[in-house]
Amino acid sequence: GRPRARKQIINPDFKLEDLGIGGLDAEFQDIFRRAFNSRILPPEIAERLDYKHCKGLLLFGPPGTGKTLIARKLSKMLNGKEPKIVNGPEMLSKYVGASEENIRNLFKEAEAEYKQKGDDSDLHVIIFDELDSVFKQRGSAKSDGTGVGDNVVNQLLSKMDGVDQLNNILIIGMTNRLDLIDSALLRPGRFEIQIEIALPDEKGRKDILLIHTAKLKENNLLTKDVDFDELAGLTKNFTGAELEGLCNSAKSFAISRHTKSGSVAQIDAATIDKMQITRNDFLLAF
Ligand code: ATP
Repeated sequence: GRPRARKQIINPDFKLEDLGIGGLDAEFQDIFRRAFNSRILPPEIAERLDYKHCKGLLLFGPPGTGKTLIARKLSKMLNGKEPKIVNGPEMLSKYVGASEENIRNLFKEAEAEYKQKGDDSDLHVIIFDELDSVFKQRGSAKSDGTGVGDNVVNQLLSKMDGVDQLNNILIIGMTNRLDLIDSALLRPGRFEIQIEIALPDEKGRKDILLIHTAKLKENNLLTKDVDFDELAGLTKNFTGAELEGLCNSAKSFAISRHTKSGSVAQIDAATIDKMQITRNDFLLAF
């Protein structure tokens, strides 16, 4: 086998709110417990156990719940780099062989490094958004005679678990529809860990609101009547993205109150100093 030079890169004492992620503590813990033990263990222990890395992680749930956010932060934690983000439909091409070429290109860098170093010490994280758009085409593409979907799937699988597999990659797939994903993809060695990123509960909503108003608090721009317990109670079924939008709208209402006739571009620091965002600004934002 190849030598393995694992790095211990994750500080276990991190706090999720410092990463700007709210309401996903249990999910994050679950991801670490199920998907990253092999990368967190001291290398010699992982070696002794012959602990196989998880190469594919699937995050599923409604849009705007923080799947991309969590995947980006995971990448930063695992290798200090921004991940490569690709989108399912963009990978598909109607030209013969072009989709497979797209997939191959995605792995070029990781492959070159793996060949050169022969180990997994530099992890490449690839985020594959809208995974279902590619993988639900298995079989159905065949029937229209192109086979494009199947070829793309096979190309991806061969990088993950095939003959030319790489050990220095982690693919984080994302989908709103787990039910559309071909079950062959969910086997060990593939997207073997599936984690649901659901709508936040009341506590989660409060955490997310606090994250997206942290700067306001730091700069004393919130009036005392803004009550985040109340707002969390009023925002049932809101996604993280919608909660962020609510905070932004409240800011817009506060700004328009302070720009009586002039344009927003004319607003000066002195006005901003006096400006505060009130409970009513939040209520107007609904
Ligand atoms: P999609 O399925 O549409 O790609 P997604 O689940 O990947 O959606 P994100 O793109 O991660 O959603 O969320 C959009 C934005 O909403 C984030 O960049 C972040 O600003 C905010 N947001 C979403 N969820 C959270 C959360 N749990 N904590 C803090 N902010 C969040």
